[in-house]
Amino acid sequence: MDWDKLLQEATHHLQEYIRIQTVNPPGNEIEGATFFKKIFDAETIPCQVFEPSPGRGSILATLKGNGKKKPILLLNHIDVVPAEKEHWKVDPFAGTIQDGYLYGRGALDDKSMGIIEMMALLILKREKVLLKRDVLFFAGADEETGGGWGVEWAIEKVPSLAEAEYALNEGGAVILNDDGTADRYGVSNGQKVLFQLEVKAKGTSGHGSMPHSDNPNVKLVEALERVTKWETPYNILPVVKEYFLKIAPKQPPADRQFFEDIEKGLSDPAFSKRLTSNPIYNSIVRDTISLTILQGGSKINVIPSESTASLDCRLIPGSSKEDFLKGVKKRLVDEIEVEVVSESRSLPPSPLDTDLFQAIQRFAAKNDPACPVVPLLLSGATDSRFLREKGVITYDFCPFRLTETELKTEHGNDERIALENLRFGMKMLVEILKDVAA
Ligand SMILES: [Zn+2]
Repeated sequence: MDWDKLLQEATHHLQEYIRIQTVNPPGNEIEGATFFKKIFDAETIPCQVFEPSPGRGSILATLKGNGKKKPILLLNHIDVVPAEKEHWKVDPFAGTIQDGYLYGRGALDDKSMGIIEMMALLILKREKVLLKRDVLFFAGADEETGGGWGVEWAIEKVPSLAEAEYALNEGGAVILNDDGTADRYGVSNGQKVLFQLEVKAKGTSGHGSMPHSDNPNVKLVEALERVTKWETPYNILPVVKEYFLKIAPKQPPADRQFFEDIEKGLSDPAFSKRLTSNPIYNSIVRDTISLTILQGGSKINVIPSESTASLDCRLIPGSSKEDFLKGVKKRLVDEIEVEVVSESRSLPPSPLDTDLFQAIQRFAAKNDPACPVVPLLLSGATDSRFLREKGVITYDFCPFRLTETELKTEHGNDERIALENLRFGMKMLVEILKDVAA
């Protein structure tokens, strides 16, 4: 295979794709879906475009296998988040290449994934690889605002998606050390459960010049102080235990034994405090509460009669929503109302003893010996939740080698991907697909 030529081809496609405006809202993903359709049509790979609402397009392409095994789905999303143009060093929608990097909104999240997944189908087709399962490609709409017009819609209306045995989606990546060597392959197999609350305090309105004891803002602030200081109990899933065990060798010697058995480690008060001061670690060992919106009053000399706050809570899969809510209510006082405004289903993580996970491990062992493949519990939400709900074993893993600095450009300024990552990503995907599907 001529990887230089394939890299050129992928780079050209990604530039074109970034130039298509798919900022959500409004999304306009139909143009992205049409872009893919042209390419698949030219390669005679069957595909179908869906448009459940005007402009909200998604596309499914199918590379047929002999049906001996159930399909594998390569998932990506077409929409992107807005960009603050004035803070970028290049136009975020021009597809500019500079010093080996392709810049643009979607360069990492998630247009590059779409391009290498498409290229993987093209490569398997051109090489006439005999497949024992269908390889599906789905580029969906609306991931950035909840998936309602994308995967959430498609999982009910496009039967072949839910029939897949496996899916690969955005999420983890190969994380690099400062010297460019691979530190770990982070593969997420589960995510936390969304449980968002609104709390409301009522009181008596009045003149700001005459403070009184029934001020809803004061009641709310005092109650929120108790809720946000709540140290929720630890709840360690096997995947999280495994994660800490795998990263233990890289820890300072004094901490290693704590990482190796994280449940025991967390019973040490000093270590527990140290560990949970890291927001990433803290988010995977317990249910969390973030106070995100505060609303009360609109004029400086008026005491309002009502004030509200929003709490973005993320629970460990399997945590009882009922018990959690009881815990919140206990810390508020009776007269403060709580309402659940948004929640996702509590789904167990996908199993790790699978062909697909082993294929990822084999690739890692060959290309980056001694680099661990680390399972992750994502604190955020991706489209994978809709697939796991249907029993599809789903891993969130982008086959890209990224530094922490590069990762931070997702949703940020100067989002970019090293062109070499497109080569690595295509190679890895093709090898994994050959492993599990050929
Ligand atoms: Zn994304």
